[in-house]
Order: sequence, then structure tokens, then C-alpha cells
Amino acid sequence: MEIVQDRVSLGALLKRESQSEKLEKPGILHGQAGQSKKGEDFTLVKTECQRIPGDGSTTFSVFALFDGHNGSAAALYCKENLLSNVLCGIPSDLGRDEWLAALTRAMVAGFVKTDKDFQEKAKSSGTTATLVIIDGMVVTVASVGDSHCVLESADGTTYHLSADHRLEFNDQEVERLTISGGEVGRLNIAGGTEIGPLRCWPGGLCLSRSIGDKDVGEFIVPVPYVKQVKLSTAGGRLIISSDGVWDALSLEMAFSCCRGTSADAAATLIVKEALQLKGLRDDTTCIVVDVLPVEKPTPPVTIPKKHGKRLFKSMFHKGSLESSSHSDKYSEPDMVEEIFEEGSAMLAKRLSMENPLCHLFKLFTCAVCQVEIKSGQGISVHADSRNPGTLHTLRGPFLCTSCHRKKVLMEGKRPLEGTDNLMFHS
Ligand SMILES: [Zn+2]
Repeated sequence: MEIVQDRVSLGALLKRESQSEKLEKPGILHGQAGQSKKGEDFTLVKTECQRIPGDGSTTFSVFALFDGHNGSAAALYCKENLLSNVLCGIPSDLGRDEWLAALTRAMVAGFVKTDKDFQEKAKSSGTTATLVIIDGMVVTVASVGDSHCVLESADGTTYHLSADHRLEFNDQEVERLTISGGEVGRLNIAGGTEIGPLRCWPGGLCLSRSIGDKDVGEFIVPVPYVKQVKLSTAGGRLIISSDGVWDALSLEMAFSCCRGTSADAAATLIVKEALQLKGLRDDTTCIVVDVLPVEKPTPPVTIPKKHGKRLFKSMFHKGSLESSSHSDKYSEPDMVEEIFEEGSAMLAKRLSMENPLCHLFKLFTCAVCQVEIKSGQGISVHADSRNPGTLHTLRGPFLCTSCHRKKVLMEGKRPLEGTDNLMFHS
């Protein structure tokens, strides 16, 4: 008999859930809960996506959260379009490891395309976007704004998988906005007293990155922070929540208030805990995802998997997350391996081909919006509008004229009169 208050460890619970679930669904259980105040939080859950349509062995899961502001149009638009905009940037003929590597770029392109497309349709409203794609034990998270995805591995170590793009907590972004021509400061009330969080003007947004927000400066960019990690075979729990949760709960509080419960109950508990502490001040939404432990693979499967791991390591030159003090021991059961992390707002850096991944772009299409580019019409993502004579203009990937214009605006420079002189002619 079990005492109700006796909370079992996450590891034990994951194992129990795994056994009850059998092997039909490859190891993902989720639950979500929310309390709406403004009706501007939207979620997307798709657990049956396939890299190769019709091939069940290529299934991956998608979880996303969009916390809108100044209306719900941008959040709703992201819910309907962001995932497909990301996936259409990945060439169709890739194996799993290559697909996962290309995904980290495609997320950048897909976020920018979604922002650009939405801004052509709507004048106001914006949204945070937290997109989580889980393929086997590999978790890839792309985020703009202040919704967060956090992870607890089976041994109880916690990790942030998203950045905080609130100006109040991100000095680097304050610096970027200031250089780009934005003005960062607090609201001034009578007598010169400053109140509230740091905001960027024009627009007065507290975030440095978002999707939508046509009415604020173009340097509030949709370029996401992207992080990719590989969980150990022991699995782990993810919490994806809007700021309604994080304004009330620390990461540790969120995990501990639901420890020992199913994903479904956990999401409800987290929202309840947040509301008890702070009341319903904002839309408060939470998705909990349990990635269940897998049986140790049999030797014939182990060999190609090890190869894949080494491939990632050499591609990204990244160490492991802090939980692993011994980087040479990455077969340790509870270790979370960091595969990729990049948060730069510069498109040229994010879409760069200076590594073995150059073939992971589609040829002859714009690297952002994926439209076909006719010969001689592409503009290098490395083209520098301040210095059109630069040698880099012949280097791909290439952007269409419209996406190049967007890139220039995001960098905070004045668009040049005649960008024609940036075209390369083959
Ligand atoms: Zn384009």
C-alpha cells in the first residue's frame, strides 16, 4: 500500500508510466492546463508527425505555446503556420541525424518567415513562441519571448531550454536594441519617476524578440534562441509555460509541486500553484511532457547510435550541460548531452554555412521563405548593406529580395535606396 503524500521519484514514475504504456507510442506522455484572462495564450500539440510520411518509425512530437499580446491574431497565426513554415525549410531527403541538424536552422527560417508573412497581413498584435520538437531522446527548442521550456532529467537535475527575452533580464539584448537604434527605458510618470519593467521604444514592448508586432521597431526580431539536447535513456520531464506561471513559480517550485504525478495532473497542479501564489493576473498556460525511459538498445542498434552521437559532437564542438562534470563519460545513464545552442539575432550568423552542414539547405530557394530564386537574383545572406563591395556576396545561402529587405531592417540599418547593387550575377 502506498501513502498518498509519499511522492515517488520522477525516475520511478516515468518507468511506471512506460510500463503501462507498452511500446506502441514511443515514450511520450503529455498533459496541459490553463486559466485564461485575456484569451491570448494558444497551444499546439501534435504527437504523430512523421519525418517520412507513412513511415511510423520516423514519428516525432511537437509541443508549442504562443502567448499573444495586443490581441490574439499573432498567436493564432503562429499556431496555424509556424510548424509548417519550419518543416518546409528542411530538405526532404535527409537521414535522421541530418534532419535533426537541419532542424536547428529551419527553426530560424521558419520563425522569420512566419513573422514576415504575418506582418504583411496584420498591423498590430504579437506573440511569444516556444516550439518544442521531440524525436526519440533528442529535444529541440526554439523560442522568442518570455514563455519558457524547462527540463528535469530523471536524476532531478534541471535545465533551461529557452532564453529570457525580457529586456529587464537580458543585458545583451538591451545592448543589441540600443545599437540598432531602439531606445530602452522605463515609463516616466509625472515628476520623472520611472515605473514598470524596461521597455523598448518605439512601441514600448518589454520583449526584445517576438513574432508579429509590426507597430514596434523592426529590431524586435523573430530570430529564435535554439537549443538541442539529448536526454539519457532514463528520460525526463519538460514544462512549457507562459509567463503567468513563471511570474509566480521558480523552475524548482514548478517541478517540485508536481513531482510524482502524471503529466496530466502535473500541468493542472502547476497552474493551480501559480494561481494560488499570484492570482489570475495573466493568461496562465502549462504543458507538461514526460519523455519516458527506453530499454537499453541491443548491441546491433548501439553501434550506429554511437556514431551519430560522435557526428553531432564534431559538428558543433559543444560540451555537455553542467550536470555532467565528466565529459568523457557521456554514456552515463542520467546525463543530458548538449548538442546545439545558438541565440544570436543576426541572420547571417544563424544561416551560415561555415560547417559541414552546407548541404542541408535547399538549393535555388530563399533560405527564409523558400520561394524559388531565379539564377542571378539571390542576395547572399552575408551581403553587408554598409559595404556592398564585400567579397562575401557570392557565398550562400541566398535570400530573395523581400527577405533580404527584412534582414536589413532587422539589423536596424536604413534600407538602401536601390538594393539592386547587392545582387550577384552569375
Ligand atoms: Zn524569401
